[in-house]
This record gives sequence, C-alpha cells and structure tokens, in this order.
Amino acid sequence: MTKSERTMKTTSKLTSVAIVVCLSVGASLLIAKEPAASVDADAALAKLKEGNLRFSTSEVFQGKPTAARRAETAQTQHPFAIIVGCADSRTSPELVFDQNLGDLFVVRTAGNLVDDHALGTIEYGVAHLGARLIVVLGHTGCGAVKAALESDHAPGHVDSLVRDIQPAVKAAKGKPGDALTAAITENARLVAAQIKAKAALGDLAKEVRIVFAVYNLDTGKIEWAAD
Ligand SMILES: [Zn+2]
Repeated sequence: MTKSERTMKTTSKLTSVAIVVCLSVGASLLIAKEPAASVDADAALAKLKEGNLRFSTSEVFQGKPTAARRAETAQTQHPFAIIVGCADSRTSPELVFDQNLGDLFVVRTAGNLVDDHALGTIEYGVAHLGARLIVVLGHTGCGAVKAALESDHAPGHVDSLVRDIQPAVKAAKGKPGDALTAAITENARLVAAQIKAKAALGDLAKEVRIVFAVYNLDTGKIEWAAD
C-alpha cells in the first residue's frame, strides 16, 4: 500500500466516524426540537387542584411510590408541571399535590426564589421534558420572607435570599392583611413575573402558563391567584 493509499484509507475511516457522530447528534437535536407537551397547561392545573383537594381532605391516593411506578419512570420522565417552591420541609410539592414519582419537576430554594440555575432548570423542564405549567408556590409562615421583613441583611449567603425578597416586602406595603401574608403573596407574584420575563422559552412560551399560589400550612389548602 502506498503512502497516499494509506492516507486515503485513514481519511475515509475518519469521515465515517464523523458521519456517525453527526447523525447521532442530528438525531438528538431533532428530538430536542420537537418536545411534546406532557399535559396541556390547563389540564395540568386541574390535576394539581384535584391533587391538593385529595391531600387537604386526607384522601390521598398516591401514598408512597411503588416498585411498579419506579420501573415505569426509570427510563424516561414526562412531568406535567414545574413547581418553584420553598425549601421548607412542610411544603413538599409531591405531597401537597398528591403526586407520584415522575409527575412534577421541582425547583426549591428558601423563599421560592429563582436565579440563573433555577431559570435553566425551568427552561429544561419545558423544552426537554414537555411541562407546560409553571407554578410558583409560596406558603404561609415562610421563614425566608419573615427574615426579609425583619432585615435586608443576613449572615453568609442567606443575605442573597433576604436581599432578593426585598422587592416583595416593598410591594406588600399598604396591602390589606398582615405584613407577612402580604409579603408572601407578593413574593410569589413577583417570582412568577420574573420567570415570565426572563425564562427563554422560545416558541413554546405561548403554550406555557405561569401561575402563583400560596400553600396554607394549617389547612393543607392552596390558594390560587389568577395569572
Ligand atoms: Zn418558606
């Protein structure tokens, strides 16, 4: 075999590898371009409302996930809603909405705030997993909002939480009811508005509904606001 024949052979091998790589990347891009809605936004909201009714009336039917459900969801996921909730241990979305493994795509931080990581997570949930409903879920007695009402500074990274809740504290001034409840509602409203303004959802934005709500720790009920 001459040197040029050897070179040709190597080049053709490399070309084949490149074609295979391109095809597989092309195929995954094609899949990524056509995300199907898991459930449309209105139907997703109805499912969450029904789930919370079951939870608040102690008629839950999900209970603990079974091995069968784990097997059903192990290879793929199609969550029907994205929940941006507080890290508070009493507000777990899967429990308060009576949902199972694979149903909800959840972002949780103290004070249900969003940063770039959270926005990226939301964008991924819409574009790649098919969720069309985004719920910002505040809750009564939120410690993060309470801390923000008391001071606009805090030690360590808690400072970034109380700082980012300040717009809600200001917006709540003069609203009816107690200051904490008003600030909690305003915070959920402002975070929903922030997601609407900042999340890069492209053409899918028209299919996506963003709502906010407040979970009541005492009653287990969720009070929904209009979007
Ligand atoms: Zn909280």
